[in-house]
Amino acid sequence: MPIRALDPQIVARIAAGEVVERPASVVKELVENSLDASASQISIEVRAGGVSIIRVTDNGAGIPPAEVGLAFDRYATSKIGSLEDLESISSLGFRGEALPSIAAVAQVDMVTCAAGEKVGTYLSLVGGTIVGRRSQGRSQGTTVTVRNLFRKVPARLKFLKSVATENSHIANVVSQYALAFPEVKFSLFIDGRVVLRTPGSGRLIDSTVEVYGVEVAGNMIELKGEATAPSPQVAGMVGSPSVSRSGWGYLSFFVNRRWVNSRLLARAVEEAYHGLLMAGKHPIAIINISLPAQEVDVNIHPTKSEVKFSNEHAVFSAVHRAVRQALAEQMPVPEVEAVAGESISPSPPRQAILTPIADTGYSPPPSLPTPAISLPVLRVMGQLDNNYIIAEGPDGLYLIDQHAAHERVLFERIEHQRSQREIEVQGLLEPMTLEVSPRQEAVLGSHCQELAEFGFAIEPFGDRTFLVRAVPALLYKKDWAGMLKELLDSLPEGDKGGWVEGVARSMACHSAVRAGQALTDAEMRELVRQLEQTATPNTCPHGRPTMIHLSSGQLKKEFGRT
Ligand code: ADP
Ligand code: MG
Repeated sequence: MPIRALDPQIVARIAAGEVVERPASVVKELVENSLDASASQISIEVRAGGVSIIRVTDNGAGIPPAEVGLAFDRYATSKIGSLEDLESISSLGFRGEALPSIAAVAQVDMVTCAAGEKVGTYLSLVGGTIVGRRSQGRSQGTTVTVRNLFRKVPARLKFLKSVATENSHIANVVSQYALAFPEVKFSLFIDGRVVLRTPGSGRLIDSTVEVYGVEVAGNMIELKGEATAPSPQVAGMVGSPSVSRSGWGYLSFFVNRRWVNSRLLARAVEEAYHGLLMAGKHPIAIINISLPAQEVDVNIHPTKSEVKFSNEHAVFSAVHRAVRQALAEQMPVPEVEAVAGESISPSPPRQAILTPIADTGYSPPPSLPTPAISLPVLRVMGQLDNNYIIAEGPDGLYLIDQHAAHERVLFERIEHQRSQREIEVQGLLEPMTLEVSPRQEAVLGSHCQELAEFGFAIEPFGDRTFLVRAVPALLYKKDWAGMLKELLDSLPEGDKGGWVEGVARSMACHSAVRAGQALTDAEMRELVRQLEQTATPNTCPHGRPTMIHLSSGQLKKEFGRT
């Protein structure tokens, strides 16, 4: 046959072969596009192993009408524009190949609406050619639907594995990106069933619970960043040696949040575990390496899944050091046998694997008793009676009393802030008068100073009346006057020790979330995380239990399974 230029359709099909190896490759490219479009919610639906349908919906930036068709042209991209850009890539995509490659081997529809547009655009392609286009309503974001993948490429179709195997590759891709982007809400539906759903809370531990379950998540150790270190920065979590695995599939590496395969990084982690794992066992790790874009070449592989570091040695030793240090500092993880009234085995404090509570920066005060009791990592499943949080732990079910739990959290926070003189105070626009009974007057008159330590600015105003100029910020919008009167009735005169605890208890009780209040998933998760950080999580300040634990063993027994 004489030499001749190939037909463009054949060229497209050949090129597509490099990018679209299997259904999971399509999912990866579409999810990467959604992430590049700054989506905060990404939903992925697949059927029949991704061969009959793959649909990815996001709430990202969308594409303006004039550019929708271009998105399917080969080497058309909005992400780079010059040779210099290629030297410092900050987006996941940049080759402009994914959409045309997918369209070359499947039927594709896109509905997209960019910010500020009144109406979106629908585009439909068959064999890489646009066959339909019209305006269509849609909220901001993009939905790409890929049907009949490889139907026209029988050779590829033949090499696909079973539906279950293709599904597991798809689930893996989505899981990896869910770990890399904990601030994004992912949901994956396989044949109509929810397989993965992450809360998008921004905390790696929350995504880890959904991807690997509570048992593994509870045994992860956080890598500590070296604040003063130059690049590369290493962050993430590694599994304690007790949760090792027989396969290598539990190492997740991200470079500037791009999911990559890397033998170099795998070796760095493996060597850090040297002597800690039994033969044939491999660690679990979720590691992101951040470094200036110029120090890593991401343009060495058609699927962008491999990268080249300009200083391999520096990256290797930074990862090795971070993992080794985290393992060295790890302490034995105690077992929680039971909570609430049942005996709890004393054990050393658990390694703090949870990121500190971002909004408060609170940690338990050193003056409180050292915990011998700690909570396992819990996965919030729902709310019962607008009163109890239902959560799954490594060993069974936990029912958490929302008011009691919040009281505990606030009580410790208030005591800590008082001792550090850090109570937040809210001045009243107009001073308010507080009329009290003779007994209340006697008690309050001798304890204005103690109340001042908690943020109440109160002064006598004569004739059973006091003037209130400021209150603790926590109580500003609550019934602080009612709380004060209740407190004055319940507390004895004189005894300062009892007073201090009594005030903290009363403030916690009046500012805590009420029983009967509906909580969102995010609120429940936040409350559980805060409870996990307390010194005494299992009782409220009044001594009532904050939770009931039904162990897997008890459940088995109740259901007659033993
Ligand atoms: P690349 O991601 O390498 O730029 P693609 O073929 O994947 O190439 O996408 C082409 C272009 O289409 C992107 O550069 C982007 O501008 C646009 N695009 C694709 N998917 C989305 C999406 N989900 N949201 C917004 N824009 C998108
Ligand atoms: Mg792309």
